[in-house]
Amino acid sequence: MRGLNHWRRGAVTAVAVLAGISLGAGIALADPGFGGAKPGSDGAGDSYYPQDGNGGYDVADYDLKVDYAPATHQLTGSQTISARATQSLSSFDLDLSGPTVDSVKVDGRDAKFTRTGDHELVITPARPVWRGERFTTKIAYHGVPAAIDDPLLGLNGWQYGKSGGAFAAGEPRSATTWYPVNDTPLDKATFHLAITVPDEWGVIGNGREGRTFKTPKGTTHVWDETTPAVPYMTTVAIDKWEFDRTKLSDGTPVVSAYAPGTSDETKAAERRLPEIIDFLSSKFGPYPVDAAGGIFLAEPIGFSLETLSRPIYSGRAGDLQTIVHENAHQWYGDTVAVENWKDVCLNECFASYAQWLWSEAKEGQDLNARYLAAVKKASPAFWAGKLYDMGPGNEFTYVYSKGPLALHALRNTIGQQAFDKVIKTWNRLNHDGNASMPEFQRYTERVAHMNLQGFFDAWIYGNAKPSDQYLYPGSLKPSA
Ligand SMILES: [Zn+2]
Repeated sequence: MRGLNHWRRGAVTAVAVLAGISLGAGIALADPGFGGAKPGSDGAGDSYYPQDGNGGYDVADYDLKVDYAPATHQLTGSQTISARATQSLSSFDLDLSGPTVDSVKVDGRDAKFTRTGDHELVITPARPVWRGERFTTKIAYHGVPAAIDDPLLGLNGWQYGKSGGAFAAGEPRSATTWYPVNDTPLDKATFHLAITVPDEWGVIGNGREGRTFKTPKGTTHVWDETTPAVPYMTTVAIDKWEFDRTKLSDGTPVVSAYAPGTSDETKAAERRLPEIIDFLSSKFGPYPVDAAGGIFLAEPIGFSLETLSRPIYSGRAGDLQTIVHENAHQWYGDTVAVENWKDVCLNECFASYAQWLWSEAKEGQDLNARYLAAVKKASPAFWAGKLYDMGPGNEFTYVYSKGPLALHALRNTIGQQAFDKVIKTWNRLNHDGNASMPEFQRYTERVAHMNLQGFFDAWIYGNAKPSDQYLYPGSLKPSA
């Protein structure tokens, strides 16, 4: 299968070679696009959130240095973005909502910049950036970050804890509230964070724990995420953490952080993480991320989120089922990300079904009985929404309830062997890329050697109760 990132990477490489040849031979005009630098698009073109992200370049790495003062909420940042132009750029956009930008340099030269719309930072470099060229953008900024208030999900992005700490969490956007970013799932990048806070505060971020050192402003904490991350999967959290460190069976480091007041029950559940990841690996293939762990907030926020390598949990969650769910996302949602937000069932239906698989394996739950009971109990409203292209604002309405049923019905339609193969190979096929529901359908059809259009129309693309043929396939057929 082909994620958009794969395609973009391939295209960029080919173009870089072309551009090199053109320059060397002095025939730049042979390529009609070459030299005609234009502004990059101010959005990545998602059908629900067209303004999120930007066009014209592909970020490889974020190197973010931040000073944060919990007492005043003041954040001072220096962001260095390494990217490659996918078109010749006279100007390009980053996303940043809130903080004041102090200066921008592109390849070490001062660049002009303006702010437009909700979150556009428009940068005009001193000279155009040519298609295929690698370039670095350095942005100095400061301010008091503020969350985006989403009518459905509540506050998203940078938020403040009652303890005086702070944390970043949100979907579909969060990064935009605290650092300049190409805020789209289509542009994954490695993420290096060095954050300085007063000595009495602790910090947890994504990826592997780097060194800690004293500076005049406090203590600097380094976190390195070398698995390419979608921007909304990056996080940082500042509190008076209790840390718990261990390793997975393959040696991958595990770091979990508990806010003061975290229950013993939650800590006991998180200590099963190596067992949970081993179990999920047995279903979904090798663990695809460079580190593991969890961030257990004291704040009772409205959601927990699968931030890369280290999910962030609401103070109201932190139970075993939620830990299974967020870690299943490391395969379904993080390392294979949505191509468009309308594909979000590829994240949520799977993470929800992972909870079913856990209950089946670890608690001996009869999933057919669970499925049939859920179908029996379902009201007309239960069936009234689609699992694909459900409309902006409805992304999360049906995926947790109807979603796992759809996957259990799929398992019974294509058979255990084909189902096992699909869920175990999908990540490897699309690793570090993006994928869509129609691509998942085609892949499943190929593995199962079946035409599944009727099934997908009934369960995924449709908004009515599936007919009995699709509702009771295989072993779900009522006995005569
Ligand atoms: Zn989820």
